[in-house]
Amino acid sequence: MKRLPLGTEPVLASDFRKEGAETIPPRSIVGLSLDEITERLAEIGVPEKQCKMRSKQIWQWIYLKGVKSFEEMKNLPRKLKSQLEEAFGFARPQIIEALISKDGTRKWLMKFPDGNEVETVFIPEKDRGTLCISSQVGCTLTCRFCHTGTQRLVRNLSAEEIIMQFMVARDDIGEWDKEDAGRLVTTIVLMGMGEPLYNFDNVSRAMKTLMDDNGINLGRRRITLSTSGVVPEIYRCGEELGVNLAISLHAVNDKTRSEIMPINKKYPIADLLKACKDYAGLRNSRKITFEYVMIKDVNDSADDARELVRLLRSYNIPAKVNLIPFNPWPGSDYERSSGNRVKRFSEIIFDSGISAPIRSTRGEDILAACGQLKSVSEKRRKSEILKEKKAAELSR
Ligand code: SF4
Repeated sequence: MKRLPLGTEPVLASDFRKEGAETIPPRSIVGLSLDEITERLAEIGVPEKQCKMRSKQIWQWIYLKGVKSFEEMKNLPRKLKSQLEEAFGFARPQIIEALISKDGTRKWLMKFPDGNEVETVFIPEKDRGTLCISSQVGCTLTCRFCHTGTQRLVRNLSAEEIIMQFMVARDDIGEWDKEDAGRLVTTIVLMGMGEPLYNFDNVSRAMKTLMDDNGINLGRRRITLSTSGVVPEIYRCGEELGVNLAISLHAVNDKTRSEIMPINKKYPIADLLKACKDYAGLRNSRKITFEYVMIKDVNDSADDARELVRLLRSYNIPAKVNLIPFNPWPGSDYERSSGNRVKRFSEIIFDSGISAPIRSTRGEDILAACGQLKSVSEKRRKSEILKEKKAAELSR
């Protein structure tokens, strides 16, 4: 593991404007839609005839050129730049840590002005590069195999904070000046910290910004939203975004699934698979990905594999299965399935005509692998609590 020379200048919380004793973030322009920027320009006194044209220029500077200040927006008049400076901000989050794994996986720990931190991971592959984005600080769910699930939910991320994870990755990898074909970040997966469908309004707003063809222009097929199975929101996601869907399935019967994923008690497998079958009419017979963490003696038998095939067939879902050998983390209850078991499981599914590749573990040495994300703020929080306890004991 080595530390990256940071390409992104940290933006200190003290850069944010102060009001009274409190530091408050400025009203960021990132996270607003093009129409909203147009409206705000009118509010700050930009002549109505110019608002649409100016908002498009600003949008392109932010999302096509990746500029970090209004000052850099060369085709805007000086007066407008000062007005924008006064009314908005779009500072990058502070980069606390940027790590690069021996396999090329990168992980950034970012801090927002309120002190909360999230992790974002970039996984380069031969033919593409995937950016794994977080949607919440912590998570309300408590999937027992997941490290993030041991951290309580602190809050939802705003649309701006979700978009900023992409911006920081593009800054650090140096991608703003490249043509589409030469870019390394080609796809986004909402598989980082948090359950994106419990923060759908902000996730939806952020994805619409990233998909907008005046700017970053990521196609909906290049975005995958991964959910633990919040059934009502799956329907909404299909209608509103139509991005690829990945389901954290991880078990083939309600008993085991409820044990390792308590959300299953609310939305059992039958309801979940029905929602998948209906997913916005499965546009162009797009496949749904079923993520399956292979945990030793919990969900990895040959019978489990056959039952998985039966379920997917009985609901007639165009599917592919991603098998993920469990990534142990300090304090986890489970062990990784043996290589042979994973291989056998994969073969049974492949033999039925459904693709079931075994995902190679990436970024393990920097705790960036699937299910291992957890903000160090939480670790710090715990060590601070311990210190406080010790201090209190000593003072007694
Ligand atoms: S697997 Fe996803 S939904 Fe489950 S606890 Fe982890 S972050 Fe939350």
